[in-house]
Amino acid sequence: MLDLAIIGGGPAGLSAGLYATRGGLKNVVMFEKGMPGGQITSSSEIENYPGVAQVMDGMSFMEPWNEQCMRFGLKHEMIAVEQISKNADNTFTIKLEGGKSEQAKAVIVCTGSAPKKAGFKGENEFFGKGVSTCATCDGFFYKGKEVAVLGGGDTALEEALYLANICSKVYLIHRRAEFRAAPSTTEKVKQNAKIELITEASIDEVYGDQKGVCGVKVKLKDGSIRDLNVPGIFTFVGLDVRNEILKQDNGSFLCDMCEGGQVKVNLKMQTNIAGLFAAGDLRQDAPKQVICAAGDGAIAALSALAYIESLH
Ligand code: FAD
Ligand code: NAP
Repeated sequence: MLDLAIIGGGPAGLSAGLYATRGGLKNVVMFEKGMPGGQITSSSEIENYPGVAQVMDGMSFMEPWNEQCMRFGLKHEMIAVEQISKNADNTFTIKLEGGKSEQAKAVIVCTGSAPKKAGFKGENEFFGKGVSTCATCDGFFYKGKEVAVLGGGDTALEEALYLANICSKVYLIHRRAEFRAAPSTTEKVKQNAKIELITEASIDEVYGDQKGVCGVKVKLKDGSIRDLNVPGIFTFVGLDVRNEILKQDNGSFLCDMCEGGQVKVNLKMQTNIAGLFAAGDLRQDAPKQVICAAGDGAIAALSALAYIESLH
């Protein structure tokens, strides 16, 4: 029986692991299906984490987290969790990919969020063949070429700036005239000569051949279509929370959820189910920032420590 199972190894899960093990829990496993680090590892730069003055890419930024957060005995199992359920004796069953399962006294869910699909024609067909949601991963393939970016939030604008350093030109397509991104980022984009703004516009279709994307048809405000001959399109249209593992066999969720699918928690990151906690991007009203996810993870671990102590 595990003392604590942590699901997800992003900033929230790693911080929860650090606080739980440093707080004295011996048998703590973090189930993370990939390498620990979370979605920030796909970011080209992070500059707003206090105490880290140097601007760095997300992968380098997260590197020391693993070493530090595992130092006090946190174990990482590289496997996907399929479902969490509660047992009659108040313990939890963690169903793992491949048919195995584990039991735990308490669980912290930190499964974060994942890029949303934009919903245009050709998006699924050409995903991985010219349609991408990660500029750091795929930007280099378009060195010296023209690309398009879709979205008007922080991610779209920051990644457009990153791509402008590699590509010959970036078309930034956004459905409104105003951007949602931070004013300082928006200003940098507007000042960048390599970025052309195409606002109040939507993607009608991404087309291509067996090799991949050949172009993007953009529907402009006046209804006309502009054809951009680009081999790559990066979409950054927001995030969906990853809450699937809380779904029970009867289709209901294990704990109370918000309408948008986020987990309802109180200030201690407790759900309405004793022993079940949620932290990071997955929880209600999450500001979707690394520092907030890390703070949530620490709070959830302290609450889990108190809960496990109360069982004795
Ligand atoms: P995540 O980072 O999403 O981590 C969740 C982890 O859970 C993932 O590693 C995933 O593999 C794992 N997981 C999910 N489901 C399962 C499962 N069933 N079984 C096992 N493992 C699972 N924030 C900032 O503060 N500053 C920035 O500059 C910034 N830039 C960003 C740029 C980009 C491109 C993106 C995408 C995000 C950016 N963010 C930034 C936001 C920040 O990355 C997130 O707020 C933060 O990573 C959330 O942490 P988390 O631990 O809650 O979730
Ligand atoms: P976001 O803030 O939700 O922005 C999504 C953008 O995509 C919006 O501009 C939206 O348009 C547009 N959009 C949504 N659906 C669309 C569709 N189907 N077709 C076309 N456009 C669509 O998402 P995000 O930029 O990924 O950011 C997510 C969170 O992480 C935010 O809280 C953000 O602040 C945070 N983040 C922070 C940093 C940072 O601190 N430096 C960096 C990255 C992300 P509308 O504007 O019209 O709604």
